[in-house]
Amino acid sequence: MTGIDDLPIRAELRGKSPYGAPQLDVPVRLNTNENPYPLPEELVRRIAERVAEAARTLNRYPDRDAVALRAALARYLTGTTGYETDPGQVWAANGSNEVIQQLLQTFGGPGRTAIGFEPSYSMHGLIARGTGTGWLSGPRREDFTIDTGAAVRTIAERRPEVVFVCSPNNPTGTAVDRETVIELYEAAQAAGPSMVIVDEAYGEFSHRPSLLPLLDGRPNLVVTRTMSKAFGAAGLRLGYLAADPAVVDAVQLVRLPYHLSAVTQATALAALEHTGTLLGYVERLKDERDRLVRELRAIGCEVTDSDANFVQFGFFDDAHAMWQALLEHGVLVRDNGVPGWLRVSTGTPEENDAFLDAVRAVTKETTR
Ligand code: PMP
Repeated sequence: MTGIDDLPIRAELRGKSPYGAPQLDVPVRLNTNENPYPLPEELVRRIAERVAEAARTLNRYPDRDAVALRAALARYLTGTTGYETDPGQVWAANGSNEVIQQLLQTFGGPGRTAIGFEPSYSMHGLIARGTGTGWLSGPRREDFTIDTGAAVRTIAERRPEVVFVCSPNNPTGTAVDRETVIELYEAAQAAGPSMVIVDEAYGEFSHRPSLLPLLDGRPNLVVTRTMSKAFGAAGLRLGYLAADPAVVDAVQLVRLPYHLSAVTQATALAALEHTGTLLGYVERLKDERDRLVRELRAIGCEVTDSDANFVQFGFFDDAHAMWQALLEHGVLVRDNGVPGWLRVSTGTPEENDAFLDAVRAVTKETTR
């Protein structure tokens, strides 16, 4: 049988494995930072209506520029962050992963490098690899915050064309303050000029305001967002960015024509009509996230402060054994390969109780 390595694939892909959290069928799945609440029935009905409307013209290609959707996303950003966002500053694609891919196709590529401060969202490095962009792993402090001085020095020395800042950071939950982003941006301009991409996939869950207002006067800054988390629509595949309109023009050079289907655009527009209800779930999830932090600490776990809809907890001599033990209690969490730490997504109160009970049971078993 032919294996991947028998094919004439690119040298840098040889021997690599694809990204993927295990999709296991267990009672409590808290491993991929999804929103645990299904969409409300009235929104499901509205999606059906708008998709039916779109279906009537499916013989035609969709709006290539997704004008109505970008206007609705701009209104959403303006309304929720207070930053007056123009539709010309917004671009959308199939998940923020595709947005990031388009950004790296535009600003990275062969002979160029991107940097991220790890542990962070592993897809930044994987999309870099997929687009032929070199990858630099920048460090974090022991408390998982970014060491700004060290980061600025690395940017000055290595001159990456793209700098990733994930805030709140996956998998640690750590938010990045605006002063740090400003310092990294200035370092990237002095060394480059280079693009700085702030990944705010979990922005709605943060205790802090969005970093979107930093776009003013910073044409090489991009903020990426997604409807996969706060909107509870991971299955929709809709991510977007806000940046200077020139960045939106630049990504047009690499985007596939008609990349965003008419069905996707119709569904996203329906969801954006219901932001009030959906953001109500966000408030509930933030309370539950804070409860997870408190209760895990009461159990005796170490917990990293979280601004996201998930919590990093430890410290385990063998995090993978802990992951396995929780799985045996019917609870799937995430082992991101950060030594000593695991990550749990905030579920419904019942799911969180089941998770906390499992942690209590496992710690009792192992300390007996
Ligand atoms: N950025 C971060 C930090 C994420 O954690 C994720 C999803 N896990 C994404 C981007 C991509 O999300 P999506 O493609 O669903 O928008």
